[in-house]
Amino acid sequence: MGFKHSDEAVERLKSKSIKPSMQRVAIMDYLILNRTHPSVDDVYKGLSASIPTLSRTTVYNTLKLFSDKGAALMLTIDESRVNFDGDTSPHTHFLCKNCGKIYDLQVPSPVKEVIGMSLAGHQISEIHYYYKGVCKACLEG
Ligand SMILES: [Zn+2]
Ligand SMILES: [Zn+2]
Repeated sequence: MGFKHSDEAVERLKSKSIKPSMQRVAIMDYLILNRTHPSVDDVYKGLSASIPTLSRTTVYNTLKLFSDKGAALMLTIDESRVNFDGDTSPHTHFLCKNCGKIYDLQVPSPVKEVIGMSLAGHQISEIHYYYKGVCKACLEG
């Protein structure tokens, strides 16, 4: 399986002033295609077969750069690992304490309206809003 460039990934990087190197595009592409909130390890395992020169450190540094530049979200919902999300629109996350999966939740919240506003003199640029519990699949399993 070879690596195929995705226009969406390239455009996303350019719009966030990130130089679209081959590895960065591949990692961005992985995030866009895998909406499962992958960890550094997941991204590394997913790409290492097609990019043998890729290292875990590069994956981590690249994902950290994406998060710093606003090209991806870094989720710290789980104490034991960091997860990344290619969907940067404000949305809520639910962590299943049983299986560890992270789900997107569309729940009514004042989240979107607050971005860019100031609260008590502080300018809001990110909101992290988490729910934890047991997911539907685990409950039914
Ligand atoms: Zn679960
Ligand atoms: Zn998400």
